[in-house]
Amino acid sequence: MQEQTSSVFVALVGRPNVGKSSLTNRLVGEKVAIVTSKPQTTRTRITGIVTRGPVQYVLLDTPGIHKPRTKLGERMSKTAADSIADVDVTLMLFEPYGEFTQPELALLEEIRAFRGPALAVINKTDTLKAPQDQEIRTRQLEQLGIFDKVLAVSALADEGCDTLLEELRAYAVPGPHYFPDDAYTDMPEKTLVGEVIREKMLLNLRDEIPHGIAVTVEKFKERPDKNLIDIDVNIYCERESHKGMIIGKGGQMLKKIASQARVDCEEFLGAKVNLQCWIKVKDWRNNDFWLNSLGFRQS
Ligand code: GDP
Repeated sequence: MQEQTSSVFVALVGRPNVGKSSLTNRLVGEKVAIVTSKPQTTRTRITGIVTRGPVQYVLLDTPGIHKPRTKLGERMSKTAADSIADVDVTLMLFEPYGEFTQPELALLEEIRAFRGPALAVINKTDTLKAPQDQEIRTRQLEQLGIFDKVLAVSALADEGCDTLLEELRAYAVPGPHYFPDDAYTDMPEKTLVGEVIREKMLLNLRDEIPHGIAVTVEKFKERPDKNLIDIDVNIYCERESHKGMIIGKGGQMLKKIASQARVDCEEFLGAKVNLQCWIKVKDWRNNDFWLNSLGFRQS
């Protein structure tokens, strides 16, 4: 029997230079390299996806950690109300030595106020001068009383990273994976484009519509000579009436969504984007063939 799949959304936070990117790269492997083109488009951005067997880890980078948006639609085990969901766990990275900086103290306060589960991770253990220094730091972090656990890793030396994933697994929520298991190896940009469009729909449309939507990128053609990318997407909704609302009076709504999405896509792709959106009606959620072809995995 297949093991039950689960996903955990992890906000990776910490002061600049503490090693967030290094740790993300270490956890995800080389595959993340393409993703680090820094789509600073949304409050929350996905920096990496790691799938280990039944568990999918979605690493997020959140400038503020209040209620980061996952921007993900259906096939969620969560209810619609929290589909703009909190992360499952916040992971805050620390240097092994030194006073906490002002931004760190602010972040700690945010975590305390937010009350979501959080883990502290001491990074750069390879720079420890003595083993007891790690214990001192660990105790200091434990005493804050806001972290479930204090772990230690070296992103550089690849120490403690597997243990970290194991610990994160405890926060995983059963359900199908949100991304294909090889996400971010094959055209991560496509996934991001789809997400941006979903996000704009969430912003502009009434709740029930975005949650019944799937987006596929049909064409993604770069024209380097012009620094232009032609992108065609299909937006699948479940009812004719929804299609009408997405298009809006005189096409205004679709224009608005497409133009907002285009601006974000241009920013993270670093090129001009010619975005065409086609709206199609399909009962895709109740059709396994469609779910598979849209990249959703069966649990
Ligand atoms: P970010 O700003 O938090 O994303 O930090 P980066 O990942 O860019 O790392 C900042 C610096 O710390 C870089 O020079 C990294 O090479 C270094 N660094 C990250 N992780 C480690 C580690 O585990 N050990 C050591 N010695 N250096 C690290």
